[in-house]
Amino acid sequence: MLSFATHESRQLPVRIIEVSPRDGLQHEALFVPTARKIDLINALSRTGVTEIEAGSFVSPAAIPQLADSDEVFRAIDRVPGVTYSALVPNERGLERARAAAVRKIAVFTAASNSFTRHNIKATVQESLLRFTPVIQGAKRDGLLVRGYISTALWCPYEGRMAPQRTLDVMLRLLDLGVDDVSLGDTLGRGSPVDMRALLDVVMPHIDPIRLSLHVHDTYGMAVATVLTAWEDYGITAFDCSAGGLGGCPYAPGATGNVATEDVVFALKASGALVAVDEGLILDCANQLASAIGHPLRSRLSQISKPRIGQPALKG
Ligand code: MG
Repeated sequence: MLSFATHESRQLPVRIIEVSPRDGLQHEALFVPTARKIDLINALSRTGVTEIEAGSFVSPAAIPQLADSDEVFRAIDRVPGVTYSALVPNERGLERARAAAVRKIAVFTAASNSFTRHNIKATVQESLLRFTPVIQGAKRDGLLVRGYISTALWCPYEGRMAPQRTLDVMLRLLDLGVDDVSLGDTLGRGSPVDMRALLDVVMPHIDPIRLSLHVHDTYGMAVATVLTAWEDYGITAFDCSAGGLGGCPYAPGATGNVATEDVVFALKASGALVAVDEGLILDCANQLASAIGHPLRSRLSQISKPRIGQPALKG
């Protein structure tokens, strides 16, 4: 194992990129009314997170849950110090993002051709060509751009991804001018050992401040992977979703995004500086629980429930 983390890197504040309003809700079956999305984002803005992925300018027919992103962006309170980003797949989406005064966009590709073919009907190479003008247009307007790389560790169609494949895509994204890169364990199958193998390969090629990890918790390893990346590699930005909102399309019934409150709790317990209140995050998720039609999936949501009618523990 290479060593990237230092005493100094562990003193840096950890940044939480809260993805529940986009990545979380996108995978929820029930439509969440626009007013409740706005309430969620406004509440999340006051939890200490530094960035909120607040919507998506994809085709409304493709993702009806996020068809109201224009309206959401126009109505939310923009709290100073919080960045509000949106997923943008093409130039039409960029136009809509501009009109809604979005200051940061995210583009989306993957390490695996099979995954992008299924998901966006393009190879990885074609996806990069497709959003090259989007990145150029955004940079021309002074917008920040995030590049997502899904299936950075495992692909549901191809299995384990060689770290070099993820590195190749990351280098292409950096060449295109993205400001930061989010490496996604879309399948939620990555272990801390898998994450080490990837970070050993990619870290020499990027300033860690520009890198975030987007891990899913399908097999219960997400928090362990986050702690490994923070403690051993000095990664200080993590994408997470309040309440673990959002399922996993590749493992129906399982959780998708790791829950923000669980990540914050674990990082704080390990000595990290995290200016996020996990109790407020849980309140945000609970506000939405009646709209999504299923219980929250985080560890903290389980132990925070009032145990009405149960006897007090003795001894
Ligand atoms: Mg996700």
